[in-house]
Order: sequence, then structure tokens, then C-alpha cells
Amino acid sequence: MTETKQKRACVIGHPIGHSRSPIIHNHWLDVLGLEGAYDKRDVAPDDLARFFASMQAEGLVGCNVTVPHKEAAFRIADRRDAAAEAIGAANTIWFEKGELVAGNTDGLGFLANLDQHAPGWDREKGPAIVLGAGGAARAIIHALLDRGFAPVRVVNRTLAKAEAMGIQFGPDVEAWAWEDLDKALMGGAVLVNTTSLGMKGQPDLVITLDNLPATALVTDIVYVPLETSLLAAARKRGHPTVDGLGMLLHQAAPGFAHWFGTMPEVTETLRALILSDMGIADTKD
Ligand code: NAP
Repeated sequence: MTETKQKRACVIGHPIGHSRSPIIHNHWLDVLGLEGAYDKRDVAPDDLARFFASMQAEGLVGCNVTVPHKEAAFRIADRRDAAAEAIGAANTIWFEKGELVAGNTDGLGFLANLDQHAPGWDREKGPAIVLGAGGAARAIIHALLDRGFAPVRVVNRTLAKAEAMGIQFGPDVEAWAWEDLDKALMGGAVLVNTTSLGMKGQPDLVITLDNLPATALVTDIVYVPLETSLLAAARKRGHPTVDGLGMLLHQAAPGFAHWFGTMPEVTETLRALILSDMGIADTKD
């Protein structure tokens, strides 16, 4: 019998039916002509530790981790990368010298998306305004601080969660009440929506941008719809805008590189493939 040498990875979650990660990774395997496979697995929370323990025996070189396993994966891993340590959650798992390593690539994905679609966006540092204080916000606050943006004003419905970000990340992160959003926008260089507001099926994000300097970059990590009402309003005011789909694509790349040994490219072809799967038309350019 011939032993298969094909490298295999997957995405785990519960449920997992919605994940588009297999489309992304199988596209890269295809265009790079690499032997490999990537699929999705529904792993219940009670099975997570057993799944990790059996990965290598199963021939899996790693996996992506999505809801509800991001915090548990972070805890179970033997080691964590610096981003995962800062964020307290993992989205990418790989092996080094037999040890299970947990990483978090959401912040990298966020930055790479802006670098690709708004080159030079970080040349003029200044205040960054982050709407929301959930899991995605934590990765983005970490990324913005890393690029030298300060202060980072975290504006959240539940003020205590914004305050917790300040406690975690230090004095450059300010907690702002949702009622003070207008004031928080003053002098801003970057505005990011990390709340679920504006997503299809969720309430809209109602916000007045009058106090935001005209040069400020506006980005939304919600990508269904691709152009959220925040992005449409910002575009009409002449702000540079970047949609959130690229973050999803770019956060996948470091995991692929760990597992399959090549850093893949996020191309227009890949973007078009995902948009076609989502059944939506591109609004960029
Ligand atoms: P999360 O941890 O549940 O956080 C949700 C955030 O939205 C919290 O700050 C919450 O405020 C706020 N929020 C929810 N409903 C609200 C409302 N009615 N009014 C005001 N604020 C409200 O979620 P997450 O994991 O951070 O994800 C947030 C969004 O980002 C989701 O839409 C997700 O799909 C998207 N996302 C996109 C990418 C990408 O690659 N583009 C990656 C990750 C996440 P409270 O604290 O007051 O509850």
C-alpha cells in the first residue's frame, strides 16, 4: 500500500457550515500547484482537546479555528505567538518540533488589507477610532498600536468592555462611551467599525461623520454587505475607504504558509471567487 504524503489542514468550528476557508486554501493549493488538501470539520466544544491531541496521528499539519473555539484553542496549545498572547485568542494552529502552537492572524489580516487597498494609509499617524470592544476589536487595537497609532479611542455600547481594553493595552487606549462618539471622531486619522452593526440581518450603524477630518481612512470589518452604510457614507464625504473582505483573505495567508511552506498571494481572482460564492457583486473601484 502506498503511504499518502499529502499535507492536510482544515478549519474547525461549531457549527462550521458557513466557513469559506476551504475555498480560499484550496484555491491557493491549486494556483501554486501544491499537493495538499483543506476541508472543514465540525468539532463540538467537548471534543476540542481530543481533536488537538489526535491531529498529528490523523496527518493534519494544522488548522484554522473559528467560533466558539478561539479562546479554548489559545488555552489548550503548548505555545502561543506574540499576537495570540496579546489578544487572548487563537485562529491558527500549527506544529513546531511536535508542539501545538496557537497564533492569531486577525491583526495581520487587518493591516495587510489596508496596505493592499490604501497604500501609505499609515504614513500620517494620529488618533484611531475603533467602534466595538469584542474579539475582533482586540486584534485590531493590537495591530493599530503596533503600527504606531495613538491614542486608540475605543467606543463601545458597553463602556466597561472598552475600559477593559484600556486596562489590557495600557494608557494609549482610551475608553469612550457610545454617546460621545461625535467627540471621539475629532482629529481622527483612522475609523474602524468592528461591531456587528451594519452586517446583513443586524441593525444598521447610524453615525454622523461630520467631526471626522476629510483625510481619515474609514474601514469596516463587516463584509456582508461589501459596502456597508458606514463605507457608503464615508465615500460620499470623500474619505478613502476599504471594505472588510480583504481582512478575511489576508488573515488566512500566514496559516497557509505554516502548513504548506509558501506564502500565498491575495489576488483579485481570489476576491472574485469568494464574492461569487457569496452571490454579491464587487463594489471596489
Ligand atoms: P463580538 O466579540 O461579539 O463583539 C461584537 C461587538 O459589537 C461588541 O463590541 C458589541 O458591543 C457590538 N454590538 C453588537 N450589537 C450592537 C448594537 N446593537 N449596538 C452597539 N454595539 C453593538 O464579535 P466579533 O468577533 O468582535 O465580530 C464583530 C464583527 O466583525 C462581526 O460582524 C464579524 O463577522 C466581523 N468580523 C470580520 C472579520 C473579517 O475578517 N473581516 C474578522 C472577524 C470578525 P457590546 O460590547 O456592547 O455588546
